[in-house]
Amino acid sequence: MKPLGPVPAGFAAVDGELALGGVKISEWLAEAGDTPIFLYSGDMIAKRIEALRTALPDRIELNYAVKANPWPPLLEFIEPLVDGFDIASAGEWLLLDEAGIAARRTSFAGPGKRDEELRTAIEAGVTLNCESAGEADRALAIGERLGRAPRLAIRVNPDFELRGSGMKMSGGAKVFGVDADKAAGLARRVVDAGVDWQGFHIFAGSQSLDADAISEAQRNTIDLARRLANEAGITLPKLNLGGGFGIPYFAGDEPLDLYAVGEKLHEIAAADVLPGTRLVLELGRYLVGQAGVYLTRVVDRKESQGETFLIIDGGLHHQLAASGNFGAVVKRNYPIAVAHRVDAEPEEVVNICGCLCTPLDRLATQAHLPRAEVGDPIAIFCAGAYGATASPMHFLGHGPAREMLV
Ligand SMILES: *Cc1c(COP(=O)(O)O)cnc(C)c1O
Repeated sequence: MKPLGPVPAGFAAVDGELALGGVKISEWLAEAGDTPIFLYSGDMIAKRIEALRTALPDRIELNYAVKANPWPPLLEFIEPLVDGFDIASAGEWLLLDEAGIAARRTSFAGPGKRDEELRTAIEAGVTLNCESAGEADRALAIGERLGRAPRLAIRVNPDFELRGSGMKMSGGAKVFGVDADKAAGLARRVVDAGVDWQGFHIFAGSQSLDADAISEAQRNTIDLARRLANEAGITLPKLNLGGGFGIPYFAGDEPLDLYAVGEKLHEIAAADVLPGTRLVLELGRYLVGQAGVYLTRVVDRKESQGETFLIIDGGLHHQLAASGNFGAVVKRNYPIAVAHRVDAEPEEVVNICGCLCTPLDRLATQAHLPRAEVGDPIAIFCAGAYGATASPMHFLGHGPAREMLV
């Protein structure tokens, strides 16, 4: 038997059935037209952002990292609740533009920005977080041709990392950002070249549940930014402090102590660090990850060599991360429930597999659950971020899942 991850708060049962916003899952499914489907709770997203606003100093701005979930209705929902948006492609900018989100609220990071993408961003007035000297030079040249000063920040590859982070994106040789020892020189150069200077972007890592580690990285980020600004002899209109706030996916994961992170940021705000600089956090999964659930149904039950397999009508083509194939080092079970019997005692140990013809498509191993028959609904939680958008939906031709914001 292998433990399941913790079911996020906010999915209280009604009459023993999983519910969202006080409405039973079966009713949502009847409205949406059945499984497989991602349901996203607007209320849970709004509450999460409200908790952040309460815990963090007023001075801290909140950006949404679009790559976590770029589904247009969700972008439109989140638009009035956050200060800005971080994108990682011109394609994501098109989604924001269509949702009526202003370019001046948007910054664009990510390696390998093509000239066409740079041009789109410069024309629109999106801030470019430059990932290299070469990219900065191409942006300057394109700006010159367009007769338009690029809004430009420099992403720094910091000389430290976010301890214990799920995905390391800094510290050592990296594809992201300009090495810290080269960043001041490049900043001076682009400021002298007349860009619309926006400051630094320093992202030290992702998916951390450790408040001390996050506070330490934020402290280091601010120290590094001040050092670089002094060295370059420039001011910083804005400092993007990165994010890294994680959510509990697996058994034993404890939620991040947001209050502790907020307290340390209050100390920084009280000390009037970097006066005149806008301080920004960019969060993806922390805003939307737990607010989504992926709902599927059992298509088949079978036994093989003493083990029970439930085969569902979804799979890794919609929710790759739950199969452990999206950057996981060890495969562990996401939180999962038999959705119409969430209060029932577990009765059997099952493997839950998707409908793709590959052994990779396993969404739970030796999970202890109430009995589920063919046709019964299976809920897989923590599906609001890196779900539909981060999964190979064309693989094996089953097609995409529905999505619904409730
Ligand atoms: C992926 C990414 C994020 C979002 O990460 P989460 O773990 O979803 O919060 C934010 N900023 C940058 C630069 C990223 O690459």
